[in-house]
Amino acid sequence: MGAGPAALCIVAELVEQNLAVTAIASQAPDQPWPNTYGIWAEELESLGLASLLGHRWTNTVSYFGNGLGDDDSALVNHHFDYGLFDQDALQKAFLERCSEVTWRIETAEEVRVLGATTEVFCKSGSVYRARVVIDASGHRSRFIQRPYLGPVAEQAAYGVVGRFSAPPVEDAQFVLMDFRPDHLTKEEITEPPSFLYAMDFGEGVFFVEETSLACAPPLSFSTLKKRLHARLAHRGVEIKEVIHEEHCLFPMNLPLPDRTQPVLAFGGAASMVHPASGYMVGALLRRAPTLASQLAVALSKEPALDSASLAREGWKSLWTRELIQRHRLYQFGLRRLMSFDEARLRHFFATFFRLPREDWSGFLANTLPLPRLLMVMLKLFSISPWQVRFGMIFGVKQIKS
Ligand SMILES: Cc1cc2nc3c(=O)[nH]c(=O)nc-3n(C[C@H](O)[C@H](O)[C@H](O)COP(=O)(O)OP(=O)(O)OC[C@H]3O[C@@H](n4cnc5c(N)ncnc54)[C@H](O)[C@@H]3O)c2cc1C
Repeated sequence: MGAGPAALCIVAELVEQNLAVTAIASQAPDQPWPNTYGIWAEELESLGLASLLGHRWTNTVSYFGNGLGDDDSALVNHHFDYGLFDQDALQKAFLERCSEVTWRIETAEEVRVLGATTEVFCKSGSVYRARVVIDASGHRSRFIQRPYLGPVAEQAAYGVVGRFSAPPVEDAQFVLMDFRPDHLTKEEITEPPSFLYAMDFGEGVFFVEETSLACAPPLSFSTLKKRLHARLAHRGVEIKEVIHEEHCLFPMNLPLPDRTQPVLAFGGAASMVHPASGYMVGALLRRAPTLASQLAVALSKEPALDSASLAREGWKSLWTRELIQRHRLYQFGLRRLMSFDEARLRHFFATFFRLPREDWSGFLANTLPLPRLLMVMLKLFSISPWQVRFGMIFGVKQIKS
């Protein structure tokens, strides 16, 4: 169910395994996706898919300093290429591999597990029956059960693709996080922090986006828009033409799904977003082949396997013990970061990007094995200033009390 990146990715892999697939989606699979997806180029290179990038930046930087121009550590050069997917190429690459699949343009309303099979009831009145249903209908799926662990933090961002009175970032530059707070008033600096994510698209077009990493409740679009305009104005930059506006809102620490349920999920519905960064597409590409092959193996070993058993096999492969433990560590880290004030958060990220590149990039891609991830977190702790260390252990609220 679905036609976003998660659905197309898993359908392509299921077809590769010679499994019979019917896809149900509210929108046609070749309809353009509303979001643009970014990724560190190396993640795609390691999968042999770097040609799917529509834009690639070598000049990749962040700013974490005091913004007064007297602090060299304000600018961090990542020395690591970042890219944006060519949406059309990515969608086509998936769809070429699924040419045999029937797409039903339908909205699923209910999923009923019968035993050997599962039925999907659609708004139109149609009913589809399958051996196992994979829900790839996104972060807000109502078919997947997960425990309630308190309010869910959301990443929120307001962005503009447009033309500006002066370049908002340098020529051919990508800015991962501009945390300079010099445009904020004394009151604003005590509010939940946000940063600028920005890039030069060439030919006078730039993308600038004010982003709140994670907050519950999320920062409103109007706050983010106001902050973006204030940030630009402080640098003497005015928006001259809006080509496209982006409103971004998705959960960062959605609890892991109940892995005994008889419906399987993939992508946002399966809580696959990286809780510390908000990225997911690299994880989809890496994890879909294993999930599809696990389902194919289970079906070939025991052709009569019922829906619940098949789903269980799928959940085991998608959320291995190792991945669950890594996810918990990331969620713990995110909770700590969310308790940090603006200055502490800047110091945290400035320290994080002082880690060796393999460490911070592996942390962000979630490709470090658990022991190495723990080592990296300990290393980060040991090189952090004491305020950050205290925050990491106790969270900031405890320090104040
Ligand atoms: C604005 C934005 C920017 C992001 N940027 C990045 C990024 O740069 N890099 C990155 O890795 N991640 C990014 N993410 C996070 C994540 O990768 C995306 O949210 C991603 O789109 C999730 O993919 P998905 O396929 O699980 O869900 P979606 O993309 O939400 O797709 C869900 C699909 O299911 C269909 N559907 C929904 N309900 C039903 C139903 N009842 N019946 C049938 N079909 C249904 C929808 O029509 C849609 O086709 C971003 C998220 C947002 C919101």
